[in-house]
Amino acid sequence: MRLPMIAGNWKMNTTLNEATALVTEMLKGLDAIEGVEKVVCPPFVSLAAIRDLLKGTSVKLGAQNLYFEEKGAYTGEISPLMLAGLCELVIIGHSERRQYFGDTGEVVNRKIRAALKAGLRPILCIGERLEENEAGKTAEVVTEQLKLAMDGIDYPPGFIIAYEPVWAIGTGKAATGEQADETIGLVRRNVSDMYGKEAADGVRILYGGSVTAANTAEFMRQSEIDGALVGGASLKAADFLSIIKQTSEIL
Ligand code: PEP
Repeated sequence: MRLPMIAGNWKMNTTLNEATALVTEMLKGLDAIEGVEKVVCPPFVSLAAIRDLLKGTSVKLGAQNLYFEEKGAYTGEISPLMLAGLCELVIIGHSERRQYFGDTGEVVNRKIRAALKAGLRPILCIGERLEENEAGKTAEVVTEQLKLAMDGIDYPPGFIIAYEPVWAIGTGKAATGEQADETIGLVRRNVSDMYGKEAADGVRILYGGSVTAANTAEFMRQSEIDGALVGGASLKAADFLSIIKQTSEIL
């Protein structure tokens, strides 16, 4: 049995005041829902305040990125050591990082290593672009991204992968449940090839890309999908709660 996870990626949204107000609103319903690992990933500047609000609750905190060096002359960057005292999880390799900030496969690999060394649990994002999908290259692309990200890294206990087709992120055009399930099944087979059956049975693989309260059930009913990484809909307390509640009822 894999514990489902729903993680909210707030991206570059919310001021400190908005972030604390949003979490306060979410906590009215979120804490009581069982059977789902619940995670919020606010911007860096709100992590400390939200950590304080989440103390003693069942909701976990994640960051959206990190830099792979521990300290030094890297103006503007956030190190794994800074995050280790603040949050448990960290999103790595999000397609927006790959697209706008030059996070290549090698950079993603270094970030995964750095996160693990600092005791953070990575949520590794992989997914194909629209033209790759249309060219029938989805399997090839996600296989290559996973291999590069994990090159030379032992299987991390509690590993989490998010399959996020780039064409579905923030577009309102989600994959179908079957499409997502098929690719997630392939990712699980890749994990099996790399790390063995036990790892493949245990790894949680989330779907991400325009998940809403209205389409959550379609994804959670699939056999391979272990939860969701949610962007836009995680900024509305009622929607995020509904996604988590539905997940707890289905999975
Ligand atoms: C994301 O940011 O990982 C994401 C899936 O965004 P959205 O749900 O808005 O498509």
